[in-house]
Amino acid sequence: MSSAAAPRAAASSPPCPDHAVDNGYPHVPVDTILKEIRQQNTGPRHVCILGAGMAGLVAAYELLKLKNTVEIIEASGGHGGRVHTHHFKDGTYAELGAMRVPITHDYTHHYIAEMGLRKKLITFINNVENGFWDIHGVVTRQTKGSVTKIYDKYRISDYFRKNMPSGGAIFGFLMDNLIDGLTEEEKQMMFDGVAGTGLLQYLSGVSLREFIVQNVGEEVLDVIGVFTSLDVWWDKAVTMYLRDEMVGTGSCLQTLEGGMSQLPDTLYEKVKKHITFDREVSRIKLLENGVEVTTRTPDQEGTSSTKKYDYVLCTIPFSVMRRMDLENLSYAKISAIRGMTYANATKVALDCKERFWQEGKYPILGGSSTSDHIQRQTYYPMDHLPVTKPLLRESFRPTVEGARFRRPSIHTMTPQPSPPAALMKRTEPMPGALLGAYCWDQDARRLGALSNDERAEVVIRNVSRFHKDLRKYVVDHASVDWEEYRWTAGAFVMLKPGELERFYPAAIRPEGRLFFAGEHCSTDQGWIQGALIASLRAVLQIVSTK
Ligand SMILES: Cc1cc2nc3c(=O)[nH]c(=O)nc-3n(C[C@H](O)[C@H](O)[C@H](O)COP(=O)(O)OP(=O)(O)OC[C@H]3O[C@@H](n4cnc5c(N)ncnc54)[C@H](O)[C@@H]3O)c2cc1C
Repeated sequence: MSSAAAPRAAASSPPCPDHAVDNGYPHVPVDTILKEIRQQNTGPRHVCILGAGMAGLVAAYELLKLKNTVEIIEASGGHGGRVHTHHFKDGTYAELGAMRVPITHDYTHHYIAEMGLRKKLITFINNVENGFWDIHGVVTRQTKGSVTKIYDKYRISDYFRKNMPSGGAIFGFLMDNLIDGLTEEEKQMMFDGVAGTGLLQYLSGVSLREFIVQNVGEEVLDVIGVFTSLDVWWDKAVTMYLRDEMVGTGSCLQTLEGGMSQLPDTLYEKVKKHITFDREVSRIKLLENGVEVTTRTPDQEGTSSTKKYDYVLCTIPFSVMRRMDLENLSYAKISAIRGMTYANATKVALDCKERFWQEGKYPILGGSSTSDHIQRQTYYPMDHLPVTKPLLRESFRPTVEGARFRRPSIHTMTPQPSPPAALMKRTEPMPGALLGAYCWDQDARRLGALSNDERAEVVIRNVSRFHKDLRKYVVDHASVDWEEYRWTAGAFVMLKPGELERFYPAAIRPEGRLFFAGEHCSTDQGWIQGALIASLRAVLQIVSTK
């Protein structure tokens, strides 16, 4: 296996250990596609872009660089889509959409650098040993020693007990073993949406649940589910997780100090002259030599207008396109729009007047706590940590055999040691926003069914199981249920068995002069990287049209 395809960290971001990394991430590196875009450009042309999320903003930015003209139609009153930092009145903030960027995500890092935001990169810590587990009624720190208190509640083998510091590690062990059995060609096919061998046909058709049960049994299934919160996604394709493990999405994570929205905000400044807000695209009709787009004000009372364009790039999520009038599109495209499964996610942020978790008996510096209660994951702010120098989490773990180092996925990471006391410094008390809940699918729907105040109340009650005094610190809250939000109608694509092979080729294929991008048109679904890979691929298709 080669790590040649794995991109390097941006030069001025904190160094990321790179020794003997064994993943290999089959994708076209960002520099390669940008070069192709420049070389194959036959423009200039006028392009209408639907949607001002990351895919739409980056496409506009690149097309303008090549002297094209663009107009962007956006249904909501703002830009950025699912990258959404919420700012509280006291100056604290929380990410209600995207929050972390793995070092392997070269497209995302490219635009962070290009927008002059590299200096804002800080370490995003996923799990620390000082964080809590609240699982099966056991509340304990996330240390190797205390995991046995939770394991005791389940019937799992001595082998896993002895060697695996968490359910996530067991999951990583399963994924890594599977990846080791794939050839380079098979790995590439998994990112192309092709089940071209017997093994890939098996993997593309098996759900996460079936796969785990077949390999380690029902009891371990439960353990993996509660530690990773993946039990809401048992019906999803196992290949979704294999790809994440191969990309190494848990590796050397970073975030932007001050909020992830700075990335779309800075891009917006470069293209803002060309955006029309509060115009909902309600109809798309494919013509012989162009595309007709009908828009209306989102309140549905305003007048609608229809305009013809030579080139249209649609970045609207398929979950929203499903309710639009679509004329003359191929049956395969309509099937992909109808069939691709979206997952839900709900986030609830609690603004606290003091970062009490960093004090005294705790101290928790970044990272998360995990619970089998409805809020599932609680993340601590990563900005302004009271440490004398920036933290760097290596995020690497040897596999059980001890021979390989592999970048783990977001789900298979194991808790990192807390920083040594010598690194801590005293600071004045300051407010901080706790991401009290980050939950998915069934949990997200059940929490999302409540009002904002009720969501916060449930989260405060549950998180108080391990932070007893939480309630007295909370001064404000904010939340989003992404399925309820009308301009996404879901959080991100999370495919069931067979869906990638069935829908992906048609999803990304242009229809005449109508092109498609957005995270749903990638095999890095659920990440900004996926939205950008699809965006630059569509830009290349547009600029090279003869
Ligand atoms: C809870 C959550 C957590 C996430 N965490 C991470 C993370 O940690 N790291 C990471 O990299 N990624 C993360 N992601 C994924 C990432 O945010 C998305 O993949 C990415 O932002 C999608 O960009 P996009 O341009 O494809 O879509 P969007 O951001 O959804 O943009 C689409 C745009 O189209 C507009 N639109 C919709 N309908 C219409 C219409 N009818 N007419 C006109 N305009 C319309 C929308 O308003 C929106 O602005 C997360 C996402 C969620 C929801």
